[in-house]
Amino acid sequence: MPQPSHDILQRFMFPELACRGEIVRLTHTWEAVLARASYPAAVQSILGEALAATALLSATIKFDGSLSLQINGKGSLRMLLCQARSGGGLRGLARVEKDLHAQEQPLFAQARLAITIETGSPAERYQGVVDMADAQVSHALETYFERSEQLATRLWLTADDEQCAGILLQRLPDYASQDDTDAWRRLCMLTDTIKADELIRLPGLQILRRLYNQETVQLLDSQHIQFGCTCSRERTAAMLIGLGEDEVQSILQDESEVDVRCEFCNAQYRFDASAVRALFSPARTSGRSPKG
Ligand SMILES: [Zn+2]
Repeated sequence: MPQPSHDILQRFMFPELACRGEIVRLTHTWEAVLARASYPAAVQSILGEALAATALLSATIKFDGSLSLQINGKGSLRMLLCQARSGGGLRGLARVEKDLHAQEQPLFAQARLAITIETGSPAERYQGVVDMADAQVSHALETYFERSEQLATRLWLTADDEQCAGILLQRLPDYASQDDTDAWRRLCMLTDTIKADELIRLPGLQILRRLYNQETVQLLDSQHIQFGCTCSRERTAAMLIGLGEDEVQSILQDESEVDVRCEFCNAQYRFDASAVRALFSPARTSGRSPKG
């Protein structure tokens, strides 16, 4: 059974300073992501930071749908994708250049980080893209916040083999009208004293007490986060229908069945010849109509 202190995101606020924050530590969610693929150490570390960041971001933004953090680049890290669903389901993966000489390639080259928010109803899509100028997920996200929300935001992110964790601090829109003009600089300096191993090992509330013991901190709600994948046989069927009958039939000619594996959770969806026929048959009785 997961322990209650694991995979919790805690929101907090400095009511006198017009600043807010969040702290997250992921154990089981991170374990579930790592159980499905093995990555070079440097990539694993970036993926862990990105996963913690995605959890933090999903709690900053009010949305009913999904939030994705995606990195694309021409270095040995080709693609990284972390996705959060409103309600707490989180998943992530990375694609690495398999070339033997990849070690000599930098991890990041011409890399860009995109944040995409998609809502269900009404269906809307927002995307913000920033350069990974110095190869730091936290710095790219700070730039993203500066541009998209115009709110000063700082992130501290870290990951090891067992946990990934992060802190986010953000100024509230009425920061400029509060009296303590040094507040933001002071809160950032205090948070800078956190060591990576403390962020990973200590429970969130203990970290808040240790960092901000001179400040008034108000705890807001906390949220449980868990690994969650949105793949399904229905969605896989819709994807195959999108490929078109000729394409799917040509896969069937080489293999006895069409075998689709979800890269996030390793779930396998198999479609044999009769299942493929059913996909493209107008008389299909179950699932979505192929026309719809
Ligand atoms: Zn899946």
